[in-house]
Amino acid sequence: MNHYIPYGRQNINQQDIDSVIEVLRSDWLTQGPAIKGFEQAVADYCGAKYAVAVSSATAALHIACLAVGLGQGDTLWTSPNTFVASANCGLYCGARVDFVDINPHTYNLSVDELEYKLAWAKKQSCLPKVVIPVHLAGQSCEMERIAALAKQYGFKVIEDASHAIGGVYQGLPIGSCQFSDMTVFSFHPVKIITTGEGGMVLTNQGDLYEKLIRLRTHGITRNPELMQEESHGCWYYQQLELGFNYRMTDIQAALGVSQMQRLDEFVSRRRFLAQRYNELLEDLPLTIPWQHLDTESSWHLYVIRLKLDKITKTHRQIFEELRQGGIGVNLHYIPVHTQPYYQQLGFKYGDFPQVEKYYQEAISLPLYYGLTQEDQDRIVASLIERLI
Ligand SMILES: *Cc1c(COP(=O)(O)O)cnc(C)c1O
Repeated sequence: MNHYIPYGRQNINQQDIDSVIEVLRSDWLTQGPAIKGFEQAVADYCGAKYAVAVSSATAALHIACLAVGLGQGDTLWTSPNTFVASANCGLYCGARVDFVDINPHTYNLSVDELEYKLAWAKKQSCLPKVVIPVHLAGQSCEMERIAALAKQYGFKVIEDASHAIGGVYQGLPIGSCQFSDMTVFSFHPVKIITTGEGGMVLTNQGDLYEKLIRLRTHGITRNPELMQEESHGCWYYQQLELGFNYRMTDIQAALGVSQMQRLDEFVSRRRFLAQRYNELLEDLPLTIPWQHLDTESSWHLYVIRLKLDKITKTHRQIFEELRQGGIGVNLHYIPVHTQPYYQQLGFKYGDFPQVEKYYQEAISLPLYYGLTQEDQDRIVASLIERLI
């Protein structure tokens, strides 16, 4: 039996291990110098002013929404083609959540659809307070157009770039926040770089930064200038709002610092493998990932769409046969609005036809730094066998 090829996995080398061990022998295990170093490394790489490391991208999305004041009576819009966390963060804040259907070529939120829905929402007086574009697979959304709409309609933009560290949009690193208020990264092991669990919020706005660091630690400040009365002394702190313990440990951040040094190498290997998939999959009854000219993907995922009218097997058959053959294909994503929890909120099948059609055809092929060309050849051969 051939070994199982997962759809994604981390790569940890000796440098990563040494970096973590150094912290274990040091004075700080949490919120020490490694956190600062990791935040600085990501901010510098992306060209953003501020970075706040937290325990996950889910936590990052939550405090990013709170930082712009999302709450009861407000609405958040995102793509239905995402992990549930991009929508749940709105519900955590007591806001309503709605979705914008996808562009059938990029599989990202459709900006035409967004524009149309905003015009409608304005008439109904139910404009969103926050829009979360998700850079699916590592390909940026059309941020310039989204930023123009944000200005016109007065909403905040939080990029869910969980897939996209190392990607580029209009020549700028994703995370520069040139077209958004904040950008969120995930460092879960299947993503581009990892800290085990972890996330980060980037921003260029000082007031948002101050709120984010407070919300990460219980809403507490030790800065006398922010306090509502005279400090009682050097032990004194004040809780100014309701925050959380969303801190990342220094142990995790040390892994992050080391992984950041390897980011370009990770992304260039992924780009090479994606290009190789493109060539190997030519002329088959499927659609390879289409790339917008403004973008350079970080290639977190390689998603194909089956042309089902040209194949005798069903999507599910092909999927299950590949899995049985040890190929860890996956599906990104089950449309969020079809999850039972979201159906209870009133969403139903048929609400977002483009993403529902995509869901019937999409397959994520394995793609990660350590994937060998031999394994990739096995994946492609196995797929071809099932398609023809
Ligand atoms: C992985 C992921 C998240 C959640 O990341 P965690 O770090 O696991 O909380 C959110 N959004 C998207 C698009 C993701 O892929």
